[in-house]
Amino acid sequence: MAEIAFRNVSKRYGGTVALSDASFTVEDNEFFCFFGPPLSGKSTILRLILGLETPDAGEILIDGRPVNRVSPAERNVAMVFQNLALFPHMSAAENIRFPLAERRVPEAEITRKLDQVSEKLHIRHILHKPPAQLSGGERQRVAIARALVRDPVAYLMDDPISALDARLREETRVELKRIQRELGKTLIYVTHDQEEAMSVADRMAILEAGTIRQIDTPRGIYDRPASVYVARLLGSPMMNILPSQPRAGAIDVAGGAIAVPGLAGGGEIAEVGLRPEDIKVAAWSEGAATPPSKVYEVEPLGGYTVVTVDAGSSRVRALVRGQPDIRPDAMVALSCEAARVHRFASDGSALQR
Ligand code: ADP
Ligand code: MG
Repeated sequence: MAEIAFRNVSKRYGGTVALSDASFTVEDNEFFCFFGPPLSGKSTILRLILGLETPDAGEILIDGRPVNRVSPAERNVAMVFQNLALFPHMSAAENIRFPLAERRVPEAEITRKLDQVSEKLHIRHILHKPPAQLSGGERQRVAIARALVRDPVAYLMDDPISALDARLREETRVELKRIQRELGKTLIYVTHDQEEAMSVADRMAILEAGTIRQIDTPRGIYDRPASVYVARLLGSPMMNILPSQPRAGAIDVAGGAIAVPGLAGGGEIAEVGLRPEDIKVAAWSEGAATPPSKVYEVEPLGGYTVVTVDAGSSRVRALVRGQPDIRPDAMVALSCEAARVHRFASDGSALQR
């Protein structure tokens, strides 16, 4: 078993705070993702787990044992480098054997491990090929196999598939998810791609400038973001953040341009958040609950359509299924169910729904 935990860990480089008071527990067998923009501290966390860096404060634990003073080799955590790191002049099999041969493991043992791991990763049929003759997904599996023969307590991956093109990324992340489930090993994964994070992670941590802002399942964070910052990181198009004013026991959204029947709340609400998929767009007619809003642009994307609308003084994006008959400059009425509204205080933190 391998549970990896940080207790109030901080790390600076000169005057730069790379990680500030970070606490989390990655459970055994978990696919755990660190997600945040560039320079938010993701790689620093991996280097601290590996033991390539020492924390300035706090404690790192593997299976409950403090490892701050334990060498990287003794920690036995494997970093799976990008598929680019395969040796080009060696076959897949030679690549996988390499870490064992280097440690002078007996030949019979190496063959047994290679057999076992290529079975598990479904790469037996490609073992004779050099990396150049493998697809991106195959190369990734070979890179994982090479880390796997060492039998580490956990795997770390730092943005492993960002170099691949979009189609290959989709293919590879499905593979990764499957492999992790089949292996039943702890996998700590770093990405700056929100869709990738949401699609692979059992749980994820959201980083902002060295600070962990929220830890939960992707679904939990998407449905209950702890702040405007987190809310805007997940979801595409991103959440609409709109001004709101209390009025006679109700709340005006976007100056009253969006109808939210039954929306009530205290005066501490400064802004509300509406996911594009939660906004309903209807043709405006006399007697509608709101004044008309004007469609700014329409983007048909096949399965759904993004409709951008000028609502009061706000520009709002709505996601509509299929290809609705909505044109630029049309007058529409926007609405949203009160239960779908996210409420934020003036400091950007989420308020109870
Ligand atoms: P990410 O992986 O999310 O892009 P990093 O962990 O690499 O972020 O970096 C976090 C912060 O620490 C950044 O401000 C970065 O410039 C700084 N940093 C990281 N490594 C070093 C280093 N070796 N020397 C100086 N500053 C560093
Ligand atoms: Mg990085």
